[in-house]
Amino acid sequence: MAIPRPQSSQSPSSRLEGILADTDRIEELSDSDGDYEDMGTATEEEQANIAYLESVRIPIQDQLQTDSSKVQNETLQAVLPFLEGNPNDFPLNIFGIPQLQRMKHIAFLKQTLGDYPSAFAMMDASRPWLVYWSLQGMSVLGHDISEYRERVAHTFSLAQHPTGGHGGGYGQLPHLAATYAAVLSIVMVGGAEAYESINRKTMWHYLGQMKQADGGFTMADGGEEDIRGAFCALVIMSLLHIPLELPPDAPARKSGLTSFTDGLGEWISKCQSFDGGMSAAPGNEAHGAYAFCGLGCLSIIGPPKETLNKYLDMMTLIHWLSARQCSPEGGYNGRTNKLVDGCYSHWVGGCWSILEAAIDGQDIWNRSALSRYILSAAQAKKGGLIDKPGKRADAYHTCYNLAGLSAAQHKYVYEADVQTELGGGELDAPYYWKAEGLFEDERVWGSDDVVGEVHPIFVVPFKAVHECRSYFDSKEGF
Ligand SMILES: [Zn+2]
Repeated sequence: MAIPRPQSSQSPSSRLEGILADTDRIEELSDSDGDYEDMGTATEEEQANIAYLESVRIPIQDQLQTDSSKVQNETLQAVLPFLEGNPNDFPLNIFGIPQLQRMKHIAFLKQTLGDYPSAFAMMDASRPWLVYWSLQGMSVLGHDISEYRERVAHTFSLAQHPTGGHGGGYGQLPHLAATYAAVLSIVMVGGAEAYESINRKTMWHYLGQMKQADGGFTMADGGEEDIRGAFCALVIMSLLHIPLELPPDAPARKSGLTSFTDGLGEWISKCQSFDGGMSAAPGNEAHGAYAFCGLGCLSIIGPPKETLNKYLDMMTLIHWLSARQCSPEGGYNGRTNKLVDGCYSHWVGGCWSILEAAIDGQDIWNRSALSRYILSAAQAKKGGLIDKPGKRADAYHTCYNLAGLSAAQHKYVYEADVQTELGGGELDAPYYWKAEGLFEDERVWGSDDVVGEVHPIFVVPFKAVHECRSYFDSKEGF
């Protein structure tokens, strides 16, 4: 389960799979045995890939068979043909790795912004997510999304609740996850009309209702308090330049809190688990998506070097995150003893730039292995990206595989002394990030496989981030 948990116990992507008949969906390759037998002699590229996989295979295996070890073995068998060869018959780049199927992915994402069959009515509460994933995916692929500007402004002005924040669909109660995705969609399409569709004053009051006496945030009125709430609230506040002072009607004021950031770093600190990872709430199991939310939130409160080192145990965190990268698959899993999944290319892969900024480190993770997994095993034959071979493409996995690929290809650095006209002091730390060219060592992608720059905290294009914040910086009051 990752951050975009809608108001239901199932993830949108798993529900998408459940409700779509095979005929409605882009066909996915079968992962059954035998499909790749009798393929003839291995090509030169395949021999090189096989040699690579052998070199990174973990030689020691526990002989004890468990449900987890069985499903891990099955997963490896499903993934390996894609890492060794080229079952999708994609054109290969100069490194013998499948090229990024840019045009197919753009076409797939255009579809995900189109009409849906009636069975999708149950996904209505996730509408902002479908829009965000699709637009962000298209942006990072270099597609101009300005044609969606009016639709986005219109959709989210109707999904905005009179008391502040956005619901998943029209007439629905506000929810921080829906509000986060709606705001990011608006930020991406940009323009005064879209920005002005947001009522920042009611948003301030709504966020004030979410702030809790212990420093954290709930996802909805009376809903669960977790680290997604803290991250989503801070993202919204920073981009829209919402005042840091709690509104007079915020319940947390009764406990003596006056600012949105009161007790927040301390609360996030309690979400670090015994094994070094980050969990949804104090005492829970560590999870990759919550790690990104925690690191992202701390990096909005202040410079990562300050806040991460102050509130987190960095060595165990780095150890836990490193252990999420599966070998020989190269992609990430989200939790200990779980399976590789393309969406963690971002949830875990996206943590590294933030960590590197906090420890002045460089290249402390294996970018090549992740890129190899994304390009070889996570591209669906007919477009869109996937969790793992055998799964169907969806906008969620497309968005986050591509964000992970961007993190692997680009160097994102935090420059405390960079000149920024943005911020005016409040929650301005995210505006010191810049993209500093491409990672060149041991790369496995060709120049046609390079995706766009993605802001490491907001996960939308840099340009959109800067335009939005400068728009609201220039406004006096609400
Ligand atoms: Zn996933």
